[in-house]
Amino acid sequence: MTIPTENVGSLPRPAKLQAAIADYDAGRISKSQLETEQDAACRDSIERMEATGSPIVSDGEQRASSFATYPLADTLAGTGLAPNLAADGQYFAIFADGHHRQLPRLTGGPFRYQTYAADYLRKSITMATTPMKQAVIAPSMLSLLYPLDSEITGYSREQFLSDLCDECEKDIRQAFEVGAKRVSVDFTEGRLACRNDPKNPWTGRHMLEQFIALNNRVLDRFTAEERTNIGIHTCPGGDCDSTHSADVDYADLLPSMFKMNAGYFLIQLASEKNKERVYRLIGEHSRDDADGVPQVCFIGVINPLDPTVETPEQVRDDLVLAAKHIPVERLGSTDDCGFSPFSIDTKPRHGSPDHARDIAFQKISSRVKGTAMAEEQLGVMAGAR
Ligand SMILES: [Zn+2]
Repeated sequence: MTIPTENVGSLPRPAKLQAAIADYDAGRISKSQLETEQDAACRDSIERMEATGSPIVSDGEQRASSFATYPLADTLAGTGLAPNLAADGQYFAIFADGHHRQLPRLTGGPFRYQTYAADYLRKSITMATTPMKQAVIAPSMLSLLYPLDSEITGYSREQFLSDLCDECEKDIRQAFEVGAKRVSVDFTEGRLACRNDPKNPWTGRHMLEQFIALNNRVLDRFTAEERTNIGIHTCPGGDCDSTHSADVDYADLLPSMFKMNAGYFLIQLASEKNKERVYRLIGEHSRDDADGVPQVCFIGVINPLDPTVETPEQVRDDLVLAAKHIPVERLGSTDDCGFSPFSIDTKPRHGSPDHARDIAFQKISSRVKGTAMAEEQLGVMAGAR
């Protein structure tokens, strides 16, 4: 592949695994029984993603409670919650269909991850025959664990942010050490930070610039060579086939987002109403030189919230149009989001999580085929980059 293509990270957990998580929360099965189901789901995810011809795969995050809470708790119900956390934190997001997801609340220091993404990858990478990627959570998301307006006695906000940056750096470095070829940082809170939702107070605090600065505090600890393989994922959310910030104009986000010194970006686009306008914005604001690395822009060509499978021809046409605005040597393709960032997700528009898994692999297959067709049409020659 000379136009790179990569998934975001997650896949729906099979109905059997979601039932096992509920049984584990209720104390009906042991942790090792849960892990047996997680192992089976990871193996199935990797084998089926490899069968799509994708040059890089993930384990579908089948062991993670969610893309944001894996360092903090074993399940979304809060089983195995890390020390110094209480369950009643801020809403991370309120979705368009009315449901919400909540973060824990920090009650004291020091802040430490209980689980690193590498703890999961270490088990999964033995199941793969193609290179693997790993997604990690951004420090900006976890900064919302600290109370919005008050100080924690004995643990200042600045000390927390310093500990948080150390933990995020460790999360990324360990993923590479375990063997990840690429690591992408989930930054769904970026677009939500522009939303100003009165029901969700942090979104009205103009926090985007401080999120960018915080994430750069971590990125700046990596060399340019390392940052070539460190990405940022932006999206309007994707949970239970619903979004949280699709109404935010990309013009409010992209100029700031590309200030992050990452080597690549996984950008939701398939579900945008005016794709060409966003391609143009990406072309205008992405940089050839972000402190030593070119910013490769992977445009979303697959909508994981919609059960209709995109054709390879649609994928090809999106990339060919994007190449009018984004230099082809900095162009890639991706899915708009993970297929199920949260472990408990019935995938309502798909009918069931198991059917949604079947659809997801068909969609990934279309992305891989369509990207190869775009290469041919654009005349990108093997070995040209
Ligand atoms: Zn996403």
